[in-house]
Amino acid sequence: MFNLTDSHLHTSFSWDASQTIDEVINKAKAENVGHITISEHLDFHPEHKQNHTKFNYSGYTKAIEKARAGFPCLMKGFEAGEPHIFKREYEEYIKGKDIDFIMGSLHMVGEYTPVYEEYFQQYKDIKSAYTAYFEEVYKLASYGNFDVLGHLNLVHRRGVQFLPEYSYEMFKSEIDDILKALISKGAGIEINTSGFRYHGGDMLPGIDVVKAYIKLGGNIITVGSDSHYVKDTFFGLIRAYEALDKAGIKEITVFKNRKPVKVPIK
Ligand SMILES: [Zn+2]
Ligand SMILES: [Zn+2]
Repeated sequence: MFNLTDSHLHTSFSWDASQTIDEVINKAKAENVGHITISEHLDFHPEHKQNHTKFNYSGYTKAIEKARAGFPCLMKGFEAGEPHIFKREYEEYIKGKDIDFIMGSLHMVGEYTPVYEEYFQQYKDIKSAYTAYFEEVYKLASYGNFDVLGHLNLVHRRGVQFLPEYSYEMFKSEIDDILKALISKGAGIEINTSGFRYHGGDMLPGIDVVKAYIKLGGNIITVGSDSHYVKDTFFGLIRAYEALDKAGIKEITVFKNRKPVKVPIK
């Protein structure tokens, strides 16, 4: 029924993933996912396990080109971590490279990853932990030199345990500022279905934030399962598409050569 796409997939070229591109393609054929974008991690912190200097770009490029022969709608992307902090390294790295899609993601707020308990323990109250996360995402959104912002609301994947009453309304001004910054830069948002696999049980961000993005004038929305292992690949896509359909959204976006292409959701 739906024209399923997945724009957030990691394979063994990412330090923390194990599936192969062929495994993703086989599952796409079995589950009728017509368009897939691999989005390997691209990080820049000098102490990161696999920063850009250690990424096997030529191997990645060759593997994508080979696999495309059996699945033409296979795109080559990156999930860039904190590009707003490592502007010089990021811009130099992507210059002249043939890439279909770049997602800008925030995995670190200062020295902490906002999905671990230590992150929340630093703050005097739970709302401050969310606010600090949104403030850093705002800086990333204002930089905006990427195609879509990855997993907005990531903080809520773990934070749901501490702030179960979270709602978009509670952080409306912070979230709206992020959405407006993205729109002014021509960047989109990702609906990340990994939230369905965790305690929160919702996509990241939730449909209320997606509706706010559209209301503010945004029209670039990608969907991705953010899988690192075959078992998670495409998990929750149908649920996300159902939520989009119910909200009256007719099209989602995929990227080719860094250009948005609209795909009717059904
Ligand atoms: Zn991520
Ligand atoms: Zn990811």
